[in-house]
Amino acid sequence: MPDQKNELLPQVKWGLVIHGGVGVLPRHELTPELEADYLRTLTASLSEGYQAMSRGGTAVDGVVKAIEVMEDSVIFNAGRGSNFTSDGVVSMDASLMVGDTLEAGAVAGISDVRNPIRLARHVMEECPHVMLVGSGAEAFAREVGLEAEDSTYFFTQRRWDDLQAAKAREAGGEARPNTVDVEDARAIAAGAEPLTEEDLKHRSGTVGAVALDREGRLVAGTSTGGSANKKWGRIGDSPVIAAGTYAGSHCGVSCTGWGEYFIRHAVAHDIQARMAYMGLSLRDAARQVVMEKLEEHRKGLGGVVAMDREGKIEMSFNTRGMYRGWVDEEGQIRVAIF
Ligand code: ASP
Repeated sequence: MPDQKNELLPQVKWGLVIHGGVGVLPRHELTPELEADYLRTLTASLSEGYQAMSRGGTAVDGVVKAIEVMEDSVIFNAGRGSNFTSDGVVSMDASLMVGDTLEAGAVAGISDVRNPIRLARHVMEECPHVMLVGSGAEAFAREVGLEAEDSTYFFTQRRWDDLQAAKAREAGGEARPNTVDVEDARAIAAGAEPLTEEDLKHRSGTVGAVALDREGRLVAGTSTGGSANKKWGRIGDSPVIAAGTYAGSHCGVSCTGWGEYFIRHAVAHDIQARMAYMGLSLRDAARQVVMEKLEEHRKGLGGVVAMDREGKIEMSFNTRGMYRGWVDEEGQIRVAIF
């Protein structure tokens, strides 16, 4: 586990923190070109999110813009670069939440919307429901003017190769099936080998953002293509309010990692709850959940980015790295991977 003790404790008057997933390649597999590409895209996401807010936009504008930039890039597992299901199509999930009003919008299992986070915003702002799935969500997208994107837009060779690799691993019995079942969870609790980062590799690149604006509004959002080779309409934590995304009275949180575990532990809401009910700081609450609670089961691999009402920023992960970064009220940007 990386030593996060000595990391700076950032605090902003207003600003934005983002992640691009935890399925970080080992240093020796991350080519300088790919590393530069990640850092460049994280920087662009922060810069555009910051500009949206500095021009008078709200934290909702900042979060949506920052996430859109990563959805439009092929290197993250969201929007354009989404993972493929076992049927060879994309099935994307996204969610968005505003802390002071508890407004929320989420979409799951959609295949033809260029920017799922934008659709989540329409659900939040224009729909009486909180969560829409599949063809219904796509029909709503047409109603609010988001055109259907051709499947070729979502094709990337890297994700296709990931799907073939995941299928080969599954067929050869070399890997755990992509969906962890109860028996597997029990076996691990009884001492079997926990999941490894190799298991995580083909599901990561989820993106997320949390922002605090000048009016003190806290907003969190997350967008993902989910795990490669997923089956049976599998939905992870990312579109599930309280699991993958939460914004409330104390903080905003966006998660990435092994979604089944983030749902079981209600990770995003648990961080807020520990602050509200136990009086913990954001850092202590986040670290208890990510480093202790998720680790109890020895396989809750993942991380979070979060911000509290005072603009304190937290980026915790129990993996070798997490693509991440933040920007302060002056537009100063920091990005990191390991
Ligand atoms: N949490 C996402 C999911 O399970 C994947 C990830 O963040 O890597 O769908």
